[in-house]
Amino acid sequence: MAFLAGKKVLIVGLASNLSIAWGVAQAMRREGAELAFTYQNEKLKGRVEKMATELGCDTNLIFPCEVTSDEEVQNVFTELGKHWDGLDGLVHSVAFAPKEALEGNFLDGITRENFALANDISSYSLVALAKAGREMLAKNNGAIVAMTYLGSVRVIPNYNLMGVAKASLEANVRYLASALGQDGVRVNAISAGPIRTLAASGISGFRNMLKQFEKAAPLGKCVSIEEVGNSAAFLTSDLASGITAEVLYVDAGFNTVAMTGMEE
Ligand code: NAD
Repeated sequence: MAFLAGKKVLIVGLASNLSIAWGVAQAMRREGAELAFTYQNEKLKGRVEKMATELGCDTNLIFPCEVTSDEEVQNVFTELGKHWDGLDGLVHSVAFAPKEALEGNFLDGITRENFALANDISSYSLVALAKAGREMLAKNNGAIVAMTYLGSVRVIPNYNLMGVAKASLEANVRYLASALGQDGVRVNAISAGPIRTLAASGISGFRNMLKQFEKAAPLGKCVSIEEVGNSAAFLTSDLASGITAEVLYVDAGFNTVAMTGMEE
C-alpha cells in the first residue's frame, strides 16, 4: 500500500519543474498523499496551478504565500482549514539571499539588510509557518520537513550568507521539534546535495560545485529532486514516527568526505 495514503500535505516552495518541491510533490502523490500548494507571487501562480493539475491535485487548494508577510502566511491556514480539518505534512522548500551575498568574499556581500532578508525568508519563514499551522498539524500529529544544505556546518565557497541562514534554519528545526513534540508533531530537515534549480543558479560558480561534488561523493554522482522527494515522503510518513529534530543528508555521502584529489 502507498505509505502516504490519506495524508494531507501542504507544500511551500514550488516554482518550476526543476524545484526540489516538485520532486517532493511527485513522490508524495505517488505514495497516495493529497496535496495543497502555495505560490510566492502572481508570476508563479499559473505555473504552480499547471503542475498541481498535472498531478491530479485539487486546484482549490493553491494559495498565495509571500513568506515575509504574516498576513499571507496566516491566510494559507485560514483558507486551507475550510477544506481540511488537520494537516499531516508541511514541506518548507524556500530560500533567498541577494546575489551579491552569494559570491566572492563573505564580508564583501554581507550587509545588515541582506542578513535580515535572507534569514527572514530562509529561516524565520519556517517558524512563521509552524506557528500559523500549529493547530492543524497537532490535530493529525503532522510532520514538518525543511530543506537545508551542508553550507550550514561547513564553509562552502560562495554560499556565504546562505550558509548562515541555513545554520539558523537547522537550529529552528531542533527548537521547533522540542516545542511541537508535545503536540505529537515531528520536525526534520533534509540536507540535499547540490541540484541545478532556479535558486541554485543564484550561487556563483554552481556548475563547478556540481563537478567537484560528483568527483568527491562516495556514490560518484549528484542527487536528483526525485531522490530528495522520496526521502521527504519517508520523513513525512508514519514509517518515520520515531524521527524528529534530525537533519538527514541526502547527498550521495558527500558530507562524510574530508579530502579528495589525492590520486597521483
Ligand atoms: P527553487 O528556486 O525551485 O525553490 C525556491 C523557492 O523559494 C521558490 O519556490 C520561490 O518561490 C521560493 N521563495 C523565495 N523567496 C520567497 C518568498 N519571499 N516568499 C515565498 N517563497 C519564496 O530552488 P530549490 O533549489 O528547489 O530550493 C528549495 C529549497 O531547497 C531551498 O530551501 C534551498 O535552499 C534548498 N536546497 C537547495 C539545494 C540545491 O542545490 N538546489 C541544495 C540543498 C538545499
